[in-house]
Amino acid sequence: MKEIKQKVKLLNSISPLEFLPNLSKHLGPKIYIKRDDEGGRGAGGNKLRKYERIIGDALASNCDTLIIAGHYQSNASRALVGVACQLGLKSVVVCKEMIPPQNADFLKNGNALLMNLMDAEIVPIEKETDYQTAMLEVAEQIKLKGGKPYIIPFGGSNFLGVMGYVDCAHEIIEQFDELNFQPPDYVFVACGSGGTQAGLEAGFLSNNYKTKTIGISVLHDQEKATTIVSNLSYEALKRIDPDFDYDLDIIVDDDFVGEAYGIPTQKGLDAIKLVAKLEGLFLCPVYTGKAMSGLISYIEEGKITKNDTVVFIHTGGMPLIYAYYDQFFEQSDI
Ligand SMILES: *Cc1c(COP(=O)(O)O)cnc(C)c1O
Repeated sequence: MKEIKQKVKLLNSISPLEFLPNLSKHLGPKIYIKRDDEGGRGAGGNKLRKYERIIGDALASNCDTLIIAGHYQSNASRALVGVACQLGLKSVVVCKEMIPPQNADFLKNGNALLMNLMDAEIVPIEKETDYQTAMLEVAEQIKLKGGKPYIIPFGGSNFLGVMGYVDCAHEIIEQFDELNFQPPDYVFVACGSGGTQAGLEAGFLSNNYKTKTIGISVLHDQEKATTIVSNLSYEALKRIDPDFDYDLDIIVDDDFVGEAYGIPTQKGLDAIKLVAKLEGLFLCPVYTGKAMSGLISYIEEGKITKNDTVVFIHTGGMPLIYAYYDQFFEQSDI
């Protein structure tokens, strides 16, 4: 496949694919985990793959200041600040409270703490203010001072970001190939802004692999999420192969969102504890815990059987465990 845009290297190597023997034994199917939580600056996570081409584009346009919008516990913002530090670029985070504070330390722990350590420039805005409007204003101010701003798309989910997850699908295929195994039957992933799932879907489809990506929504309802992922995936497939033209069958399940984005669910918390206990791996209450609770339910309902092979994408977000620490203790213990 031709390189679409200049890419800046933010990840050293392909991320490990690890078999989870204890979770597999406990649940039935063969479950692997793709460690996209490992590697890269700013405590890593799935946003780094997306940023490789997005920041490549920023550098190609001679920009020196990256602007991102998010809430105070945003993984996307925290990771962006980290890679900006690494590359010697400036960054500005436009912040508002999207998630009601979950405990007294919510704005001082987890990603908020890490952004503070990196001396992130935070521009607080009111809840009612539109992120895009606020980012454009910040960009104008930077221009007035002679800087060259670059606005990061929401969740890093534009075509450039999606291509990072096309790469990930190719890695998974290669990793199974090296094991002399058929590609996996299913890939499970948390779906927020949709770019991660869209890239995986496009990556498998463009190689004619039967691997089905199941997105577990943590944000949008099914209809909205499906539309977003379909559009992003279609755009990627069209650029990879201009002749591509057929309907996509995107699956995003919104049964595990719970009350809202950023509000933990009991099933998600239970999934985090189970994976920690059995495998010594940490998921988070906002994304991967909910995604894992989806996978567990699909297995319990028999939608996925012990003859299936599943890859769970560990998209990162471990700092969020600290932001939600009180969820993991009995209230009387705190
Ligand atoms: C952003 C994020 C996701 C969701 O990825 P999208 O591409 O926005 O759907 C999943 N997990 C973690 C830990 C994230 O930070």
